[in-house]
Amino acid sequence: MIVAERKSMDELLETLSGYRKVLVLGCGSCVTVCLTGGEKQAEELAGLLNLAAKSKGLDLTADFASITRQCDREFFADIPEDKKLSDYDAVLSLACGVGVGFMSEQFPEVTVLPGLNTTFYGANTADGIWAEYCHGCGDCVLAWTGGVCPIARCSKSLINGSCGGTDKGKCEVDKDMDCAWLVIYKRLESLGRLEDLRKLRPPRNWSTDRGKGVRRLTHAEMVASEQENE
Ligand code: SF4
Ligand code: SF4
Repeated sequence: MIVAERKSMDELLETLSGYRKVLVLGCGSCVTVCLTGGEKQAEELAGLLNLAAKSKGLDLTADFASITRQCDREFFADIPEDKKLSDYDAVLSLACGVGVGFMSEQFPEVTVLPGLNTTFYGANTADGIWAEYCHGCGDCVLAWTGGVCPIARCSKSLINGSCGGTDKGKCEVDKDMDCAWLVIYKRLESLGRLEDLRKLRPPRNWSTDRGKGVRRLTHAEMVASEQENE
C-alpha cells in the first residue's frame, strides 16, 4: 500500500492562505489504512482548520467529504451532491500524490492541493507502524534476494551484496536499521539458497525506476475491447 503522512498545520495553513472555502477530501483506500487520509481524518482536519481559522482570525472555512479512491475516475461520481467542487475555492486532498495529480487532471477548473506527504510503499509491521518494503523500481529482484528488497531497504540500494560498512548487523547509514544485505543473507541461508548470492548481477537499468518520464501499464486487450465498445 501507499503510505503517506499528513502535512503540518503550519504548512497547510500557508498552502491554504488566499482560499476562503475549502473542501477536505479523503480517500478511502491506502491512506485510510495508514490512518492519514480517510473520512475520519478528513473530518478531523476540517475541524482543526476551522478551529485554527477562528483562533487566528483567518477568513477560511473547511468542509469535508470522502470517496473510495481518488486515483480512479469512477469514484468521483460519489462526491456528495451537497459538496459540489464548484462551490469551493480549493480542494485539500488527503489522497497520495497519485490522487492529487489525477484529480487535478480530471478537474482542470478546480484547484487541488495536497494535504499529505506521500512517503513510500509499505506494510503494517505492528500496531501503528508502517515500514517501507518496495520502492516501485520497475525491475523486481526479490526472486533472488529472498523477498527482501535491496532497493528500498538498503540505504545505498546496492544489488551485489553489502557495502562493507555493516556494523553488528546494522546499516552504517542508520544504526537503528538492520543492514538489508545481512537480512538477505540470513533469509537465503534459511531457504538453502545462498548460491543465489554467488551470481554477479550486472549494473541495473535505472530507467525503469526513473528518468524516462511517466511510467505506464497498458493492458492491450482491455484497451482494444474498450475501443470496440465505443
Ligand atoms: S526490487 Fe523493485 S519492484 Fe521489487 S520490491 Fe524492490 S523496489 Fe519493489
Ligand atoms: S550497511 Fe547494509 S543496508 Fe547499509 S548501505 Fe551498507 S549494505 Fe546497504
